[in-house]
Amino acid sequence: MINPTERKRSESLFERANKHIPGGVNSPVRAFKSVGGTPIFFKKAEGAYLFDEDENRYIDFINSWGPMILGHGFPEVVSAIQKQAETAMSFGAPTELEIELAETICEMTGIDMVRMVNSGTEACMSAIRLARGYTGRNKVIKFEGCYHGHADSFLIKAGSGVSTLGLPNSPGVTSGTAQDTLTAPFNNLAAVEKLIEENPGEIAAIITEPVAGNMGCIPPLEGYMEGLRALCDEHGIVFIMDEVMTGFRLAPGGAQERLGVKADLVCYGKVIGGGMPVGAFGGKREIFDHIAPNGPVYQAGTLSGNPLAVVSGLTTLNYLKDHPETYAQIDHMTERIETGMRELLDKHGFEYRINRLGSMISIHFCDTDVVDFNSAMEGNNDKFKQFFHGMLNEGVYLPPSAFETWFISMTIGESELEHTLYAADRVLQEMK
Ligand code: PLP
Repeated sequence: MINPTERKRSESLFERANKHIPGGVNSPVRAFKSVGGTPIFFKKAEGAYLFDEDENRYIDFINSWGPMILGHGFPEVVSAIQKQAETAMSFGAPTELEIELAETICEMTGIDMVRMVNSGTEACMSAIRLARGYTGRNKVIKFEGCYHGHADSFLIKAGSGVSTLGLPNSPGVTSGTAQDTLTAPFNNLAAVEKLIEENPGEIAAIITEPVAGNMGCIPPLEGYMEGLRALCDEHGIVFIMDEVMTGFRLAPGGAQERLGVKADLVCYGKVIGGGMPVGAFGGKREIFDHIAPNGPVYQAGTLSGNPLAVVSGLTTLNYLKDHPETYAQIDHMTERIETGMRELLDKHGFEYRINRLGSMISIHFCDTDVVDFNSAMEGNNDKFKQFFHGMLNEGVYLPPSAFETWFISMTIGESELEHTLYAADRVLQEMK
C-alpha cells in the first residue's frame, strides 16, 4: 500500500504549478476538483504503469484518457517517433506519410476521405462546420452529457470535466451560438424526433458519441443508433459520430463497425495519435467536396498532419490492423475486471451499476440503470470519492470523476488484474 503522505513532491509541485498555470493544470479534470486532494504529478510511464514524482507506482486505467491503447512506451511507436524526429519535425507541406495514414484510416474504417487536425475538439468543430456548409442549415442536435471538446457549440449541457465541475453551460459562449445547439437526452429517440419536428428543415447535423464515455460509460440502447441514422436519412440531416473515444478502440473500424451503423461524418482523436496530439475528421466524399481548397467551407492547421504526430498514429494503427486479436484480448480483460468488480461489490453489499462496452467501463454507485445524463447524476459521489482515493492509495490510478470512463490498455495482464481486484476488495471493505 502506498502511503499518501509520500506524495510530498506532488504537493509541492501543485503549489508551484498554481502560481503560473490556472488551477495548476492544463485541462480542468486533472485538478481532482470533484474528488478532492492533490493531483499527482507523474514523471515516467512504462507498459501498464505510471510512476509519480515521489517514486510511487500505479496501474494506469486512464491511459491519457484513451490514447495509450498499446500501453506506455510501446517500442515500435517510440522508435518511429525517434527516427522521424531525426529526419524532420514539421514541414507545413504535404508528405507521403500523410497519404499512408489517410489510406490506413480509410481502409480500417471504411470512410472515403479524412483530414488530419490536432485534437478531438478540432475534429468535432470542423465536422459541424462542414455539415452546416454542406446543408446550408445552422442548427445541430447534441446529447446531454456528451462531450465533443471545448468549442463553443458543444459547451451546452456537456459531459466530462464540464459536468465534473458543475458547469455544463459555460460562460463565454454567446447566446447566438447556444441557440443553434439543441439538446436531447441520450438514448431517447422520441426527444430527437420532437426537436426535428419543432425545427423543420433547420437541423444541419446530429452529433453523438456512439458509446457515451463522458458521463461514465453509457452504451447505446438497442436500436438507438439505427434510429438516429434513420431520422437523419429521412430529414436530410448529416449524422456525425464522434468516435474520439471509440475510434480504433472498440474495433479496427471503431463504433461504426462494432455497432453496425454508418455515419456520414466521423471524428477521431486519442488512439489515432498513439499519444501525440492528433485528431481527424472524415466521411463521405460527397460531403468532403465542400471543404477548402476544393470547396468553400474553410478549415486549416499549421501543424495538421505533421510528421511526428503522423508516424506515431500510423505505427499505432498499423499495429492494431496487423494484430486484430488485440481487441478480443483487451475486451476479455475488461470483462474480467467487470466480473471481478461485480463479485466484490455484491460481496460488500453495495448498490451499483457497471456499464461496459469492449474496453470502456465505468462503475456507478447507484441503484438505477445509467442510460443518460440524468441517471448518471444519480450516482453517489461520496462513495465514488472514497473508492477513487482508496484505489489510488493501493496503487491503482482511476479517472478522478464519476463522469469519466476507464480505458483498458493491452498491457493489463494477470498480475495487474489480480492487484486491482485485491485492492478493490480492501477498499470496499473499508468503505462499508
Ligand atoms: N470528443 C470526445 C468524445 C471526447 O471524449 C473528447 C475528449 O475527451 C473530445 C471530443 C475532445 O478531444 P480533445 O480533448 O483531444 O480536444
